[in-house]
Amino acid sequence: MEKNLNESLATKAVWAGESEYLAHGATQVPVVHSVSFGYFDVDEWYDVAIGKKEGHIYGRNTNPTVQAFEDKVKALEGAKAATSFSTGMAAISNSLATFLKPGDRVVSIKDTYGGTNKIFTEFLPRLNINVMLCDTGDHVQIEEEIAKGCDILYLESPTNPTVKITDIQRMANAAKEVGALVFVDNTFATPINQNPLELGADLVIHSATKFLGGHADALGGVVCGDPALVEKIYHYREINGATLDPMAAYLLLRGMKTLDLRIERQCESAMKIAQYLQDHDAIEAVYYPGLKSHPNHDIAKKQMRRFGGMLSFALKGGLDSVRDFLPQLQFAHRAANLGAVETVVGPARTTSHVECTPEERKALGIPEGLVRYSVGIEDPNDLIADLEKALSHVTVTSR
Ligand SMILES: *Cc1c(COP(=O)(O)O)cnc(C)c1O
Repeated sequence: MEKNLNESLATKAVWAGESEYLAHGATQVPVVHSVSFGYFDVDEWYDVAIGKKEGHIYGRNTNPTVQAFEDKVKALEGAKAATSFSTGMAAISNSLATFLKPGDRVVSIKDTYGGTNKIFTEFLPRLNINVMLCDTGDHVQIEEEIAKGCDILYLESPTNPTVKITDIQRMANAAKEVGALVFVDNTFATPINQNPLELGADLVIHSATKFLGGHADALGGVVCGDPALVEKIYHYREINGATLDPMAAYLLLRGMKTLDLRIERQCESAMKIAQYLQDHDAIEAVYYPGLKSHPNHDIAKKQMRRFGGMLSFALKGGLDSVRDFLPQLQFAHRAANLGAVETVVGPARTTSHVECTPEERKALGIPEGLVRYSVGIEDPNDLIADLEKALSHVTVTSR
């Protein structure tokens, strides 16, 4: 029985998708490692196969553990349907491929995740799909490009790594006028901080690898929204095969139970750290939507509950300073992921924008001295002390 989940997000994070007892009455969702599902009764088998009766047939299509994961994300995003993928990039590429055909036009922003940007600049143009990438903060330009004709508006807010903010509701309204579908990558905000469907998006996408799972031990992706749209994406995925593995689904489910707690701590700590860094002599700039100095702080305040666990900052002295600084941090993995319980740091050139040339990064306004800082759940005072110590090794004055 699906419980009536009008409860808060914290309660949904724990209970949604897990209200039924499965095999042996286990209170925890079992990892169902079975490629196929058997039936004695041929008629029942047929009814399940054609979707007349609930059940599972083959692991590329559906699986009970995977379904519990989808149900939990669906509840958190306030969506009516969700389908999952092996990675966040699979969710993005499959969702685009479901709806696009040669001659179509996509409007997006320059600051999407590096992999998404590659889909727009390398793969879609090959299929004769026109992609217009606008300056991320330039709402007027985005509106003008949408008005010229648009099949999909693709947004991400906040962006990676400079946490730029786009007004989702305003852009979705513009897209509705030309009949475009609106996709929003909500990985950075998480459903705890922002629900794009409420702001007019048709589909919300997550790399579950990041905050949803939260423990950097499983890859996954998910897309939620209107059942008619999600059904089409599911069909594309079941045939093309980028299915989420049940073990990964289990790890993501387990991680999501603490999502609200983790995000609360991470957002609080990120704010403290951003405020600390903006007064530091070795720092050129701090990027965090919660700071009043952020160019779109007001939009962030309007569409987000909190400002997220991601920030970035530019060190004076560029890449040389980054080389001095990063090895000194005691409480941070120097790695390409984000959204984990541990703090994770990295320069854009080895993480979000590794696919780009230095010239391309410059054009995107990403300084070579930029450090992306994914705040973990450690005590923020320890993180600030750690930053303080590492920053003392940056010898800006001599450069
Ligand atoms: C990591 C990330 C992706 C890609 O997700 P994978 O699970 O690594 O494929 C997409 N969008 C954003 C914002 C991300 O941070």
